[in-house]
Amino acid sequence: MTEEAGASWIDAHLHVDLYAAEERVRLLEEAFEEGAQAVVAVSMHLASSRVNRELALQYLGRLHPAYGFHPEQPIPSRGEIDQLFGWIRTRHEAGEPFAIGEVGLPYYTRSEAEAAGESFDEQPYLALLDRFAALASELDRPIVLHAVYEDADKACDILAKHNVRRAHFHWFKGGEAVVRRMAASGYMISVTPDVAYEEEIRQLAERYPLELTMAETDGPWPFEGPYAGKPTRPAMAADAAKHIAALKRLPVQETAKWLLANTRRFYGI
Ligand SMILES: [Zn+2]
Repeated sequence: MTEEAGASWIDAHLHVDLYAAEERVRLLEEAFEEGAQAVVAVSMHLASSRVNRELALQYLGRLHPAYGFHPEQPIPSRGEIDQLFGWIRTRHEAGEPFAIGEVGLPYYTRSEAEAAGESFDEQPYLALLDRFAALASELDRPIVLHAVYEDADKACDILAKHNVRRAHFHWFKGGEAVVRRMAASGYMISVTPDVAYEEEIRQLAERYPLELTMAETDGPWPFEGPYAGKPTRPAMAADAAKHIAALKRLPVQETAKWLLANTRRFYGI
């Protein structure tokens, strides 16, 4: 008997707007044909949020957008930030479906700067995340976080300050203590295709509660191992179920059902 990875799944974190414009529709149509019930389309900034909103209107109920500012970029001007927040509020007032994201802290940019002996001012990023967390709390929207290792603790502090309960740490990596803190807070994580070959991710997927776990690709980000040289496609999120099932010693279909149900519950899709 062969165990399929599950006929239905959701890619819980996809940068669809980072694929070439002419490729996006094909990518999405293919994913929906292959069994994607939906994709969560996260945004880099305002222009990216606008593209994802257009796609969300085109694929109602199947492309769930998230609007925010990705932290691994230079901090925008006060005016640009106000414009993004104003735009998100307009979407809320119109009663549109969306989450807040991708937002968080610039772990990789900061680490590279510090490794090169340069100073790095994290303060504006902490302030911006604080503002996004306040917005998520006020609008009662889920929030998608890019916050790994020691940054996850800082993000947890900010979430707690604003009483944010629906938080999704995408492609999470971090130590024991913060993992326990996140699970106790009911925060979600999602694993990428690197659960096939990355020991750190495999250990996390094994020990994080299944009912708080989702699958994602972070596409078009490229992967290694069995995916080396292959363009990242939403269907790779379905593969995660097989690996998580093996790590947790559970049936694949049961695992896939959990991942799907978790994502539907968390994002309301
Ligand atoms: Zn991302």
